[in-house]
Amino acid sequence: MSLTRKQFLAVSGSSILGFSLFNSITGCGTGSSESPKKGSGAMSIEVKTKKLQLAHTWTISRNSSDFKNNVFVKIERDGITGYGEAAPNVRYGENAELTTQKINDARSIFKENELFHFANIKEAVDSNIIKQSCAKAALDIALMDWVGKALNVPLYQMFGLNPADSPLTSFSIGIDTPEVIKQKVREAEQYPLLKVKVGKPNDEEIIGAVRSITDKPIRVDANEGWKTKEEALEKILWLKSQGVEFIEQPMPSEMIEETAWLRERAGIPIVADEAVKTAADIPKLAKAYDGINIKLMKSGGIQEALRMIGMAKALGMKIMLGCMIESSVAI
Ligand SMILES: [Mg+2]
Repeated sequence: MSLTRKQFLAVSGSSILGFSLFNSITGCGTGSSESPKKGSGAMSIEVKTKKLQLAHTWTISRNSSDFKNNVFVKIERDGITGYGEAAPNVRYGENAELTTQKINDARSIFKENELFHFANIKEAVDSNIIKQSCAKAALDIALMDWVGKALNVPLYQMFGLNPADSPLTSFSIGIDTPEVIKQKVREAEQYPLLKVKVGKPNDEEIIGAVRSITDKPIRVDANEGWKTKEEALEKILWLKSQGVEFIEQPMPSEMIEETAWLRERAGIPIVADEAVKTAADIPKLAKAYDGINIKLMKSGGIQEALRMIGMAKALGMKIMLGCMIESSVAI
């Protein structure tokens, strides 16, 4: 069975959408509202944190989690509402409290600008929020949602994209015991592609557990887990023999020279994730990686993600769209 991204969203879309979210949240956020700027329409920005309980403990090579505190943003002006979400990630020193603070710090930018001038707002937010890129993402997603609704067009139409071109999405399987891995693979039966997390000493056991259940295509993400180029090469050559299509972030992000060495010998594509956040990171990676994994939480939103697509294409690199642990708002 094949599943387009649109179908995936229809399947996975939960109740964490829209007005009910902001009516039902009682979490640890610091919600407050702004008064309108004279002459530019009544405007408010609400910020709330919601705890998302995960169905399975989520383990990758560097950490585990059972829940996520994500931060939701709601921008209202002229009777139109835009929604955004931040998924703070410990890899980048992010948390819900700092994210909320950064979003609150950027409120004046939205008060002082027409929301249709979204490129100007992005520039101002980029100058204002240096770290906590997920805070930028929440604001940009909410802003672009507002703009699309104000123009009465979906964003894919605004950007001239054809939904029929949407690639298949893969379903991620976190690190676990072989028995739990098998259970997760069975639960993911409707998804035609799997992305399997590795990067611990039991990589072979994990892939063996997946392959005992299914022969569907798999991609592998080491999350910087292999620490030398020799170890990474040995792992990759074995994974290739197991039908793995490509490898994501085999070694620590700063090991660009070692990854270039690996790429010459791997025989399957290598994709950057932790090594790339924004368009400015891409040129130096072109020799070491075949592609990049773009995530809104790293890029700081939709506008920068589009710049990254343009930059990667200009450099002949492949593009993958990924996500952190997010609700249907950011997904
Ligand atoms: Mg990754």
